[in-house]
Amino acid sequence: MSETGGDEAESVRNYFNTVGADRWKKIYGETDEVNKVQLDIRQGHQKTVDKVIGWMAGKDMNGVTVCDAGCGTGSLAIPLALSGAAVSASDISSAMVGEAEVRFNNEIAAGKKAPSVAPKFEALGLEECSGKYDVVTCIDVMIHYPTDRVNGMINHLASLSEDKLIVSFAPKTLAYSILKRVGELFPGPSKATRAYLHAEEDVESALKAAGFKVTRREMTATQFYFSRLLECERV
Ligand code: SAM
Repeated sequence: MSETGGDEAESVRNYFNTVGADRWKKIYGETDEVNKVQLDIRQGHQKTVDKVIGWMAGKDMNGVTVCDAGCGTGSLAIPLALSGAAVSASDISSAMVGEAEVRFNNEIAAGKKAPSVAPKFEALGLEECSGKYDVVTCIDVMIHYPTDRVNGMINHLASLSEDKLIVSFAPKTLAYSILKRVGELFPGPSKATRAYLHAEEDVESALKAAGFKVTRREMTATQFYFSRLLECERV
């Protein structure tokens, strides 16, 4: 998590188009080519995804429009599309969103029922996403956002949502700040982006200012993965 310098979004894009894509495709995959830390992150992240899917369980998702911004390899976008939602999945990295499309097509080839509206996969930064959706999701992306850009980013995502906004982020607490500092002292070869923790009250104020109230709250914490998940509704 060392500083890469230059334009932040550009260095995040470069990282997730190169060494980061290889690392995260493995972490968000099923193979056993992961070390203990990566396995812990995989399992923690899956818990967050499962919580979001659990929040939608029991609802008829057919035709519900979803924008999954910063979709990565499609861990959330794919199950939502397979549940019938009309999903627009995008990511700043063409390698990551390309992998999401491959994984979705593999599911269909393996016999899963295709949704009536095919998901759209696009290489786009969060703030380049446009349109109106019933639900906007942005899971574990804020860690790549500097504090001074978070309000603008939340405001933009909120403007895309007619009803629900679901976001997750690494909360800024004393314990996690220390853990992050320790991680920075021992940077791995493929941890090439900066990581930003965010104070929950700041995120919530930004959501409130953008016209959303928090309706559900979850925390997932494993040894190396921690993520606060908020479900919000337009007031
Ligand atoms: N949301 C996915 C998930 O939970 O499986 C992926 C999470 S992964 C830790 C972070 C993703 O955010 C990467 O795929 C990265 O390319 C993407 N990302 C980072 N900054 C972004 C930005 N400004 N706009 C869009 N995507 C971004």
